[in-house]
Amino acid sequence: MILKDAIEALGGSAGVVATWSEAEHRFVATGYYGLGDKAMERLLPLLDEAIPDLATSVHNFNFLSTLRLEPPLPTSDQGLILNPIIALPLQIGRRSVGLIYVLRRLGADSFSEVDQAILAAFAKQAAIAADNAKLIQTLSEEKERMEYMLEGSAEGIMSIDARRRIVGFNSAMEKLTGYSREVALGQPCHQLLNLRDWEGKSICNTARCPMLMRPDYHMSNCEVQGKVQGADTQDIEVAMSYSLVRSHERGQPASAVINVRDIRRLRETENLRSTFLSMLGHELQTPLSIIKGYTDTLARNDGKWDRNTLRRGLEVIEEECDRLSKLVNRLLLASRIETGTVTLKKDEVQLQAVAVKVVRRLKATASKHTFEVKFDPDFPVVYADPERIEEVVTNLVDNAIKYSPHGGKITITGRGERDHVTITVEDDGLGIPQRDLERIFERFRRGDASQVQKVRGVGLGLYICRSIVEAHGGQIRASSEAGKGSCFTLTLPLQDKG
Ligand code: ADP
Repeated sequence: MILKDAIEALGGSAGVVATWSEAEHRFVATGYYGLGDKAMERLLPLLDEAIPDLATSVHNFNFLSTLRLEPPLPTSDQGLILNPIIALPLQIGRRSVGLIYVLRRLGADSFSEVDQAILAAFAKQAAIAADNAKLIQTLSEEKERMEYMLEGSAEGIMSIDARRRIVGFNSAMEKLTGYSREVALGQPCHQLLNLRDWEGKSICNTARCPMLMRPDYHMSNCEVQGKVQGADTQDIEVAMSYSLVRSHERGQPASAVINVRDIRRLRETENLRSTFLSMLGHELQTPLSIIKGYTDTLARNDGKWDRNTLRRGLEVIEEECDRLSKLVNRLLLASRIETGTVTLKKDEVQLQAVAVKVVRRLKATASKHTFEVKFDPDFPVVYADPERIEEVVTNLVDNAIKYSPHGGKITITGRGERDHVTITVEDDGLGIPQRDLERIFERFRRGDASQVQKVRGVGLGLYICRSIVEAHGGQIRASSEAGKGSCFTLTLPLQDKG
């Protein structure tokens, strides 16, 4: 519109507005009037070649006003042949942001100095309009870039306005909460997510919500942890980091961007760790108390013990010392697995002999159980760390005994395949709930059934088994049918000695 007015005021027939593109380092025609495609084709090289120097020097523009194109520009939309041309820079402050040209038809007078002054007034207006357009474009590009970043973030990001209505909800948020963006946008966050503390008390609508904290409490970043409600009504444990935007110092927040992290795994690990510590305390305390009790009794000056009582007492002390030493070894091994400092000393291992040895040793502690060791007659020799593999088999058979408190049969089977061997340890005991089959191999993880809790343990045995088997390039898994016992299967690759 500015261009059209300028053309009319100057008695011109056509015109062009070109803006300076920093990226392309040239003027780009952003609007033209009264010019046909052919005329534009002839004008564009002028913009490309002659003009770039002018972007840095305002004075050169005057020379353009004396320019007469040879041959004249072909035709305008009105079928006129154009020639006299006037150009002026579009300037904001001292910065050239573009050019404005006006062309007269062939034979018309050249532009005068007065014409230049008139065009300068229009150029000023056009410069502001062009600059605004550029700003808007930069802003919208910036906005697009931000949205792209937020959308692509693996962390949940939500933004809310001063009235705590959700105005941004990225796809990680959709995944975390189960709410689609369409549902979430526009809803008050306290209604949709209903943040509560670990005791279940609401945080929303109280001064604990960062959006409602006292105005004089002018922090711009803070974190709140608690439970929010997902679309399936399940609670999700989250840490919400607020970045508050305040309209003025000490004012109530005008908006906030909130990073929402799923901390369910983290909290679970923390819980496991603290349960482990209390279990460990118990596991250490029990044998120590027994040892202390027996030594006190046996050492009493007034006590007269026959040989049998004495032997029985010493046997108990020895058993408890063994138990303690086993526990400490397990802890040390688990910590070495953690730090990655376990090395394997491989040698030829006869797995059947290992299974027989383990059964012979543990049989003494399992009066209610029967044992069977069934190996293929041509079961191959395995190249592995004998001590560690014995530890795995011991753990599995020990568990089979511990978790079948009413006794039953424990079967160890060995089968050789083309490139690997499979060992299974089966029992008739408590069995393992489906949801625990994978988790029991995690560190400190124990079954939560009351019968399991009665059995002494700290949840490290299977973690150690899996780490050892995997270090050998093998796998271990558990299967179970409710109430019908459990079966642990481990596979080890058959490797050459080298
Ligand atoms: P711990 O025996 O010290 O608890 P483990 O890592 O050896 O530690 O076992 C982890 C959990 O796996 C046990 O607490 C138990 O719930 C389950 N589990 C292991 N072996 C068996 C089994 N043979 N039968 C039933 N549950 C088992």
